[in-house]
Amino acid sequence: MLFIILIYIGMFIFMKDKAVQSVGNSMYYVIEMLEIIPVVFVLTSLIEAWVPKKVIMNSFGENSGTKGYVFSFLLGSLSAGPIYAAFPVCKMLLRKGASVMNIVIILSAWAVVKVPMLANEAKFLGVKFMGLRWILTVISITIMAYMVSKIIGDGSQLLAENEEKIGDGSQVFAKDKDCHISIDKQYCIGCGVCVRLAPLKFKLQDGKAILINNSFSEEVKSMIEEVVDKCPAHVITYKSNG
Ligand code: SF4
Repeated sequence: MLFIILIYIGMFIFMKDKAVQSVGNSMYYVIEMLEIIPVVFVLTSLIEAWVPKKVIMNSFGENSGTKGYVFSFLLGSLSAGPIYAAFPVCKMLLRKGASVMNIVIILSAWAVVKVPMLANEAKFLGVKFMGLRWILTVISITIMAYMVSKIIGDGSQLLAENEEKIGDGSQVFAKDKDCHISIDKQYCIGCGVCVRLAPLKFKLQDGKAILINNSFSEEVKSMIEEVVDKCPAHVITYKSNG
């Protein structure tokens, strides 16, 4: 930020015309963001609150298969708005159990295969050009999404690393070699269901659930599956390879 301010000061001293033009362009994007981002946040919050985690997992999760692949392309291609509006939506979908592969597909389709854009492309460059570019883009996105999912792993791990980086303490995370669990503490309502069902793994602290230890015995694993299912806020993510 300081770096950008210094650049602007330098431009105003040495290239006043360019600086004025640059400020005008920046203000255009700031106003666009201020118009779009509040709507995106409201929509994201509504989906987060009203769409059950199971629905998101069935539609976009690791086991959603071809359905998830098609839904992800449709969601990205039919969405309106600039690409930065896709990031909060994708973070919410990840929290709700969407797979990394499908998130990459949504983001990529949002950026380069929007339906209105395809119609314009066909009008100016021809149907053959648009069709060929669309096919090759879809193939490239699929390969890229597969590679990213193999490199990144699953969504809960990605979210946990991200939360750690931004340091807001909203997520608690634990893992061993073949399973891991995370709680999105920010949205925990402190009902205590997890503590009652799996007292070996959860406890309440300051009105929020936290994980007690990193051990994943077979007894704990079966308890956690029930807790994930029963958590009314759907804030627990659990993945086991075993
Ligand atoms: S069941 Fe869910 S909402 Fe309730 S305390 Fe546990 S994590 Fe929080």
